Amino acid sequence: MATIGPSTRSIETMVELIEAGADVFRFNFSHGTHADHAENVAMTREAAKRSGKEVGILGDLPGPKLRINDVEGEIVDLRPGSEVVLTTEPVLGTPERISISYEGLPAAVSPGDEVYMADGRIRLRVTDCAAEEVRCSVEVGGPISSHQGLNLPGAEVQLPAAGRKDLEWVDFAVEHGIDLLAISFVRRAEDITPVERRVRTSGADIPVIAKIEKPQAAERAEEIVRAVTAGVMVARGDLGIELPLEKVPTVQRHLLALAGRHSVPSITATQMLASMVASPRPTRAEVSDVANAIFQGTDAVMLSEETAIGEYPLEAVRMMDRIARETEPDLPYGDWVFNRAHSDEADVANSVARAAVSSTYTLGLAALVVPTRSGRTARLVSAHRPRLPVLAVSPRIETVRRLNLLFGVQCVIAEDWSGITALLDECAQLAKQTGVAKSGELIGITAGLPRQELGTNLFEVHRVP
Ligand code: PEP
Repeated sequence: MATIGPSTRSIETMVELIEAGADVFRFNFSHGTHADHAENVAMTREAAKRSGKEVGILGDLPGPKLRINDVEGEIVDLRPGSEVVLTTEPVLGTPERISISYEGLPAAVSPGDEVYMADGRIRLRVTDCAAEEVRCSVEVGGPISSHQGLNLPGAEVQLPAAGRKDLEWVDFAVEHGIDLLAISFVRRAEDITPVERRVRTSGADIPVIAKIEKPQAAERAEEIVRAVTAGVMVARGDLGIELPLEKVPTVQRHLLALAGRHSVPSITATQMLASMVASPRPTRAEVSDVANAIFQGTDAVMLSEETAIGEYPLEAVRMMDRIARETEPDLPYGDWVFNRAHSDEADVANSVARAAVSSTYTLGLAALVVPTRSGRTARLVSAHRPRLPVLAVSPRIETVRRLNLLFGVQCVIAEDWSGITALLDECAQLAKQTGVAKSGELIGITAGLPRQELGTNLFEVHRVP
């Protein structure tokens, strides 16, 4: 998964990223206008057409992120040891006085609290709070630029989960056929509701992913994971500022296991290959970090600055792809069939998915083929981590694009099914065409189609003609 930004905003570069292995593009709605992102959508669709591969688009909503307002000349330098006033008044920021987008700031902090800026690189310490301003000393200084984020670790920020701008981005997403949405700074399960409601009232069905980047969300991870079936993102950038850094690996491991247990797709994000922003070669620690996220069961690994503003976006995607290809054969597939997705819900579809995956070991199958309209059966199958190729087939282009998020699943477009025989025949044909199985080999076909359509929770073994 690659974040699109100034380094990658061209059709030619997007084609190269897709060919290098990127299958979902993230658009960060915290940066850029509706017109910019409309252009990004058009470029992505054209790049996908040219490369002959469907690509998912994830729209990342800003959520209740605190920001600094405009500063003089776009960048000002905060000197260590100096004093700076954070004000809720709309002034042009200087090294002495910076305007903040959140009116509740003075009430949210107390003397002694830490305030972070510039992705955690700058640390201030609150010395005094008044009605409209907060006085701070600069403990770790450096440059800050207009609209950068501001973090108040531990503070309860009284902002709605989805503000007016977020909801406008949701309307944009519906209008422009964005495939997936992510919500930033989720604090509790209910935070998902306003976005889901807005999507539904627009007559669309874009799945919503919760970004886990607040300590409150890490504490309520189980309730959030149960509320989102589309996915969770371990958003380690802000998580590593809001929480002590040394806690991030444990939170990541816990979240990835939890998502796996509930068959919820997971994304591990931020600073995965951070040194590749300025170097064609990552560090060994970064390579291990990517591989470890995969060993811990992440579905997707995400590049942020590396592809948005980095000097080596293509090399970063190629590197990510190489690490994933090297790591994946070494995963504990046999154990995961029984031990990974084991939520306590008595769910027939989930049990059939597990049976289908475990049968690949006993029936000598070449592949699993999963006809799926919404993508649900493919998600349940993928959660059990089959060792064999999984080919999802769907008559819905949105599903084909969205399923790129899942571990080990390739998805292609299918005819709309007229009956069970047509469905099985088409699965076998598509398995052959895509090369996941050859003539004469056995494939497992599993689907959770509604009873009124073609029968429910089917599992068939079929010989490829
Ligand atoms: C993160 O904080 O890790 C993240 C993915 O969010 P953003 O890039 O929006 O800061």
